[in-house]
Amino acid sequence: MSDKKGIAILGATGSIGKKALEIIAAYPSYFDLQVITANTNADLLIQLALLHKPNTVVIVDENQYKKVSEALWNEDIHVYAGKDALCQVVESGEIHTVLTAIVGFSGLESTIAAIRAKKHIALANKESLVAAGELVTRLAKENGVNIYPVASEHSAIFQCLSGEFKNRIEKIYLTTAGGPFRGFSGPQLKNVTRQAALASSKFVLDPKLAIDSATFMNKGFEAIEAKWLFNLKSKQIEVVVHQQSIVHGIVQFEDGSMKAQMGLSDMRLPIQFSLTYPDRFQTDFPRFNFMDHPEFSFEKADLEVFKNLNLAFSVIEKGGTAACVLIAANDVFVHAFLNEKISFVDIAHFNEAVVNAHSIILKPGYEDYVNADLWARDYASNLIK
Ligand code: NDP
Repeated sequence: MSDKKGIAILGATGSIGKKALEIIAAYPSYFDLQVITANTNADLLIQLALLHKPNTVVIVDENQYKKVSEALWNEDIHVYAGKDALCQVVESGEIHTVLTAIVGFSGLESTIAAIRAKKHIALANKESLVAAGELVTRLAKENGVNIYPVASEHSAIFQCLSGEFKNRIEKIYLTTAGGPFRGFSGPQLKNVTRQAALASSKFVLDPKLAIDSATFMNKGFEAIEAKWLFNLKSKQIEVVVHQQSIVHGIVQFEDGSMKAQMGLSDMRLPIQFSLTYPDRFQTDFPRFNFMDHPEFSFEKADLEVFKNLNLAFSVIEKGGTAACVLIAANDVFVHAFLNEKISFVDIAHFNEAVVNAHSIILKPGYEDYVNADLWARDYASNLIK
């Protein structure tokens, strides 16, 4: 095995995956790129393979195998196809850390495979931890695997905890810019249209993520993810609105001391730290200047109006398959809203109805999560009908 850190990137053609590849390319003496994967985007996978020269590529869509293998036939690169290959390639002895940057519940199986193969995880695929946090964290513990968070909020908490792992957390604060409807009352929220929800998004986001930010569901999922990453109770997690998006997370320790992590929003930083921990590597990323941001504001997140946030805290309490059902149902309802089949406030109401209708399985195994996901999608689709 080489002295360099062997990295596998699952979901290399996505937003996180491409940024991770830039980081790996910037430190060639430290990283050894072992594996990159894509779902269907064969052209980009080929382009990235030719540029970054991994040891192995996987294209999940088996129909594209011929195209990828022909394009790379002259390179010293192994090419595999199919869903099972994703789980097999992470077992290579050359891999130290697997960056899970696949989007959606489909990332769970390969995350579990990587943990069982005793690879450390740089976790971007939030769905695996939100849906199946109990199983993922248990397996990580059993296999002596560390999970390094990639999302900026969780990386912030993790960075505050560095050097403090033996000290007990009193609570953490997750920050949010507040979304486009911050300050709205319940009745005002009823009139929110698809166009308004998408147009008023502060950043360029994919439509699903834009709606999840507007309903606060995204922050709710982050709270669930934080519960599992940092072994917290729901009462130890508070969401605060911080419009400037400079403070990414705060930890309050038992002695009352608070540590915050701050900086300009740039996903490259948390991705890099998840791969280089405990070291910090010099970068030329833009630096924060206090004079550009002379005022910071913090306000309470409105759990009464943004019911999805409340619901997320309630599924933390319920445990078992409850969060798995919430994330699946929300997926169905957000797409229904985007297709103008239900209203903005219906998303939270229907989410709650699905969670309440679910018979929670405590201590679930992998198949229980798969079945809960399918059940929730089916139940949610029928509710819309
Ligand atoms: P993208 O949609 O940009 O990329 C997703 C990647 O996953 C692509 O490589 C895609 O391949 C692959 N993929 C999609 N479906 C499957 C599947 N069924 N099987 C295997 N591979 C699949 O997502 P992001 O990079 O934005 O996000 C990745 C994860 O990170 C998500 O869970 C997200 O919530 C989380 N995250 C993202 C942040 C961000 O700033 N983007 C911040 C924090 C967390 P192909 O290109 O072929 O479709």
